[in-house]
Amino acid sequence: MINFNLEYLKENSDYIYQAPARINLIGEHIDYNGGLVLPACVNLYLKAYVKKREDNKIRLQSQGFKNVVEVDLNHLQYNPRYKWAVYVIGSFYILKYNKFDIPYGLDIYFESDIPPGSGLSSSAAIIDVTLFLISDVYNLNISRLDITKYAKKVENDYCCLKSGIMDQAIIALGKKNNALLLDCNKIEYSYKNMILDDYSFLILKTNKPRKLTESKYNERVDECGKALNIIKNKYNVNNLCELNPDLLDDIKSLLNDEILFKRVKHVITEQDRVKRFSIALENGDINTLAKLLNESHESLKNDYEVTGIHLDTIVEAAINSGAIGARMTGAGFGGCAIALIKKDKILGFKEKVISYYEQRVNIIPDVYIIDIVDGVNRIK
Ligand code: ADP
Ligand code: MG
Repeated sequence: MINFNLEYLKENSDYIYQAPARINLIGEHIDYNGGLVLPACVNLYLKAYVKKREDNKIRLQSQGFKNVVEVDLNHLQYNPRYKWAVYVIGSFYILKYNKFDIPYGLDIYFESDIPPGSGLSSSAAIIDVTLFLISDVYNLNISRLDITKYAKKVENDYCCLKSGIMDQAIIALGKKNNALLLDCNKIEYSYKNMILDDYSFLILKTNKPRKLTESKYNERVDECGKALNIIKNKYNVNNLCELNPDLLDDIKSLLNDEILFKRVKHVITEQDRVKRFSIALENGDINTLAKLLNESHESLKNDYEVTGIHLDTIVEAAINSGAIGARMTGAGFGGCAIALIKKDKILGFKEKVISYYEQRVNIIPDVYIIDIVDGVNRIK
């Protein structure tokens, strides 16, 4: 019997892999509306220590998660008792279902400094790292783009969660010092250089436990679907992101529904901001980047209504403490924000943000200084 603990696997693993967390610079709630998003990988990592087995078993354990899970490679059907491990077993399942040959089992131990459930996409990190390691260990040669597509299947088809493709894509495709301009409809992408000279992005974590995220997320997905169906009666489009901001007045009367209009207004204006943001990145136009971040947050607060007191306060705290732009990142309803700040203002920023935020919501937030890093990789 192999001693299944971290110390043992760390010393004796055949391979070690890591997947980073991600932020989305701009383009929020856009992926499932078929538009352009602009995420990047950051230097918080989920690591997987892997040891080959001689039988058909997959044994999984994760630091900080109680249950050890053991399954047979021939019996990978979804089972809620797998809890956190559904993402991992789902990855094996989806690849086997797609006829990849997985001839023997593995022991895998996960260790992570990506806070789970905080909007930095620990879920896509664990899926992508698993698909990547399966491809690597068994020499399956699955491309990074295909990892993205299978990862989405794991989340949508195996775990039955509605989600877009952004998170899975950036963690598979991310590149050091670059953001990924991803077309979520065509699944085409290019890289945008992110060397910002005197400026840097930070992550601000609200530490508000996320509640209702899934149901509210699904509600927004449904609202957008409903609005699109009405708009399709007049406009020949496949998704909301194909619509230009100059059509907003007409769409308002077409929808004749204040809530649906606000949702569509966010999507259309946000899509326009992504395009302007990526041009500003190319031009090193920091002031425009900051302005677009702030406008994006306002739109998510007032029109898409996915922020809440914690995210709004932490964004306020960032601006109050010297950041020139800030916005929530991820699905919202808690989680994290990002802030753009001049490097010489970083000293003291953290203390100011903590003090401002704690005074108002009585929770101590976390502030991370980040680098933009490569996507999933083998490190041993
Ligand atoms: P986010 O992706 O924003 O971090 P999610 O709710 O989508 O939040 O995903 C969090 C889930 O991902 C956890 O509940 C767990 O199932 C899984 N997960 C994240 N990190 C780990 C980890 N280190 N070990 C095991 N499972 C993890
Ligand atoms: Mg997630």
